[in-house]
Formats: sequence, structure tokens, C-alpha cells
Amino acid sequence: MKSDETRAPRLLGVLGGMSWTSTEIYYRLLNVGVAERLGGLHSARLLVHSVDFEPIAARQHAGDWAGTAEILAEAARGFAAAGAEGVLLATNTMHKVADQVERAAGLPLLHIADATAAAVTAAGLERVGFLGTAYTMEESFLLDRLAGRGVEAVVPPAPARAEVHRIIYDELVRDVVRETSRATYREIMADLVTDGAEGMILGCTEIGLLVGADDTTVPVFDSTRLHAEAAVDWMLSPSR
Ligand code: GLU
Repeated sequence: MKSDETRAPRLLGVLGGMSWTSTEIYYRLLNVGVAERLGGLHSARLLVHSVDFEPIAARQHAGDWAGTAEILAEAARGFAAAGAEGVLLATNTMHKVADQVERAAGLPLLHIADATAAAVTAAGLERVGFLGTAYTMEESFLLDRLAGRGVEAVVPPAPARAEVHRIIYDELVRDVVRETSRATYREIMADLVTDGAEGMILGCTEIGLLVGADDTTVPVFDSTRLHAEAAVDWMLSPSR
């Protein structure tokens, strides 16, 4: 009995709904990861707080990041009270307010850029393409964090960035996957490879719905998958 207790995964607070189409993927990956590692009928111990994305996206669009942070901080406060030991923010973009979320939760936050950078450097790569929302591709909060961990992330030129962003918000977060958009992403990734990208970061948690390893000639680093894998490691590591 003792050993079974010791093996119980740590309880993780997942702040999701940004969008739900990627939170669904996280939920599966976290459970499959724990089940594969522990066997039997083990599964992930999770508190999933899935927010309404509309008010978040509206505030992003208006540049009201403090407003988004307030909504997420409110949601994150419940995790510690319910016994969680850590927080996972299931989106790249909202890592812009990761510090505020971490403070509100009073728990360690498992940062998506750290998980992504670790995989890129473990593969021996340095210069990689990065696809995500305009916020992540055009601001420094995520790219700098990657750079600080030895990853030079190169983003597409402005017109391509606009299209990558549009497809995320008009399609992927609405559970729409279009063949034409897949073709667009393939072209944009091919151009980044021509420009010297040795790998490709899918730096938005929905992009894996559209493209994967078969859509480019270089290794793909899907931030959703890597973040979930890091979280599985964390859940199965001993509590401090
Ligand atoms: N899930 C996306 C990301 O990883 C975009 C949605 C959001 O704005 O949170 O950046």
C-alpha cells in the first residue's frame, strides 16, 4: 500500500479553455502519459479550470493584458485551496501573464517555453522556426525565454505571420481544420527551412491539430506535447 501511495501522481492544476480544442489534447496527453508510466489503471490527478475564451480573446485584442491576468489569477487561486501542487497554463500566448498567474496561484508554474526549449536543445538544435499567435511571434516574452535557454526562434515575415495568426483564431480555436490552411502552414514552414530553420516549434497549442511531423522536412517540436510530457514528469516526481 505504501508503494502505491508513493506512486500517486502529484495533483496538477490545469488552466485551460484557451482554447478548449487544445485543452482537450492536453487532457488526453496527461492521462496517457501517466498511464504509460505507471501502468495498471493509473491516470493523471488533475484540476482542470477551463475558462470562457471569448472575454480573454477580446482583452488580448484590445491589448488589455492586465484584464486577462485578472481573469486567470482568479481562476488560479482555487488550485492551491483544492490541494494542487503546481499549475500548468495550457497556452503559449497567455504565458505573457505567467508571473501573475504563478503569484496568484501561490504554486510553481510549469512554463511552456522551458519544456519546448529543453526538447530543442536535447535534439542538438539551436536555430528553429516558430509559429504561433502574433502575440508570441511579435512580442518578446516567449522568444526571449527560449533564447535564454539556448534556442534561437525565427518567425515568418509579416504577411505570413498574419495568416498563421488568422488561422489560429478563425479556425483552430473553433475546432475547424481546413486543408487549404494546412497547405498554407506547409508553405510557411518550407520557407523558414529555406531560411535556415533546423527544426520547427509549433508554438501555439492548437497548431498540432493542423500540422505535424509529416508536414515539414525538419524535426517538429509541438509545444502542447512537450509541455504535457514535462507535466507528466513533474506529476510523477516526488513532492517537495
Ligand atoms: N492556444 C494558443 C497559444 O498557445 C492561442 C490561444 C490563446 O490566445 O491563448 O498561444
